[in-house]
Amino acid sequence: MAIDVYTDDLLETAAREAIRLDEPGALLDRFATLVRESGTHAEHDAGRYLVERLEALGIPVRLHAPELYISLPDRAELSVVDDGGTRSVRCRPPSFARSTAGEQISGEICYVPSRYAAGTASLFDVPDAARRDSAGEDPVAGRIVLTEGFSMPGTVQAFERRGAIAQIFIHPGANIHEGICTSIWGAPTAESLTRKPRTPVVCINRPDGTALVEAAGRGPVRAGVRTWLREGWMPCLVPVVEIRGRVDPDEFLLVHGHYDSWYVGIGDNATGDAALLELARVLWGLRDRLDRSVRIAWWPGHSTGRYAGSTWYADSFADEIDEWCIAQLDIDSPGCAGATAYEEVMWMAEAERLCSSSIRDAVGAPARGVRPLRAGDYSFNQIGPTGLYMLLSNIPAEEREARGFYAVGGCGGNIAWHTPDDLMPVASLDILRRDLAVYLTTIVRILNAPLHPFDYTAAAEDARAVVERYDRAAGEEVDLSPLVADLSALVGEITSWRADAEARLRARPADTAGRRRLNAVLRRMARTLVPLSYARGERFDHDPATKFGPVPRLEAATTIASAAPEMRPFLRVGLIRERNKLRAMVRELRAILRPDVGGVAD
Ligand SMILES: [Zn+2]
Repeated sequence: MAIDVYTDDLLETAAREAIRLDEPGALLDRFATLVRESGTHAEHDAGRYLVERLEALGIPVRLHAPELYISLPDRAELSVVDDGGTRSVRCRPPSFARSTAGEQISGEICYVPSRYAAGTASLFDVPDAARRDSAGEDPVAGRIVLTEGFSMPGTVQAFERRGAIAQIFIHPGANIHEGICTSIWGAPTAESLTRKPRTPVVCINRPDGTALVEAAGRGPVRAGVRTWLREGWMPCLVPVVEIRGRVDPDEFLLVHGHYDSWYVGIGDNATGDAALLELARVLWGLRDRLDRSVRIAWWPGHSTGRYAGSTWYADSFADEIDEWCIAQLDIDSPGCAGATAYEEVMWMAEAERLCSSSIRDAVGAPARGVRPLRAGDYSFNQIGPTGLYMLLSNIPAEEREARGFYAVGGCGGNIAWHTPDDLMPVASLDILRRDLAVYLTTIVRILNAPLHPFDYTAAAEDARAVVERYDRAAGEEVDLSPLVADLSALVGEITSWRADAEARLRARPADTAGRRRLNAVLRRMARTLVPLSYARGERFDHDPATKFGPVPRLEAATTIASAAPEMRPFLRVGLIRERNKLRAMVRELRAILRPDVGGVAD
């Protein structure tokens, strides 16, 4: 039985009709003058602009001022010696590449042909080309690797393991896109610091890359790479609004997005910042009709700190998030010109019905969900609130293809993403109005639904299906069937728990304490199921920013059967331990659902 979607037509209509575009328009005008690199004056000016506007609107705002660990890529030089002589090639270093501080790293180029990501969802994939597939001496070792694609962390790490001394990435178009290549999520710890990239990395455009590949095909090409990056703890500003609910104010929805940018970043993410400001204005106006609280946060450190702002918030407010956070809703790159399709929107399984119905009811468009990537400001998965949205509307796929666009990670699919071209024409206030209608519809439903509107049966069923698939893939090597059985039982127990909870609420609508207890149980479901489906490491930690599959602790089950025979016993031991951890997590949740503990009975 799927849960019914809670709606409140009067309130949703009032919220959508309250949308105005003057604050968003003014914010875009202001942000178009600010290159919002984290820790710089321009970013601080943007943070203070948000605070000024909020205060002018009478909305209370708290301004946090943490120091975040940031890497600002100043510049890089690439010189090439081939059959045509010596020349320099225009290039940009990604954030967190090693800074050689002017020292030249020289060597022979080793070209490793690769492919460009087919879509946004595969941007973080490590291409097969980066993996070593032959025994004997690795041609990459001791050389400067040249390959196609964005300098994503898993790929950079893979080439470092193979002994590359520097890395050159050929981008798919005429522009060089800015980016970040560390796998460390947020501020490093003493342990994770060792994962910081150790090689200088530069990115070049397609025409220069093609010429270099051709030269390398004719004979040996030598190159010299120099990089200049500024890395360290930098003072940043984090504005956070809290609008307190009138019925259950401790329970809150976290709505958030980053306000730092590459260049002036209009589509990524000034439009999102404008959306957050307008949401604050509309929701503040409706505050007497909102049952639960909403926090609205603007993060620094997303682009040059690997989500350092949201990670800082997760670390600093971990206890409140754990106990009270209903869900987190990420806003990145909405409101881009031509972005009318909602066909690659990220949400967790339990949010499917809420999100697709909100999009349909707000703008009359069909929607299709995809599993959230380990990306964006999803810095909360290891605490465990349900996550929804990240990017939202996109230029329809056929239109992108007609325009010759390749896959990017924002701007509604516009390839101005992370380049100096991300200017005012990338945005559209009319599209932003549509996206605001989607956000408001979703938010009002979350804040006022008597029971949190997430279908944790769907989340448990999703996990069960994944583990069953892993169990089949592992064959005789390891037995995951006890966990499959646990999850099957959990699916049934959550379904009947929800039915009982709704019946009880109908019978006693005025029982505030009872309702709060039921919602606390729903949040405990998320605290188990979100880490189970989305985390590899411990709760309250932050996994690396690399691609991994669902129920990632058990992902090795998919490769154990094809692993080298001498490796299989080690993989088996690891899988058994992870299975045991997951069984314990599920056991704890099932105990909470027992009628005498957290169940619905009196
Ligand atoms: Zn963004």
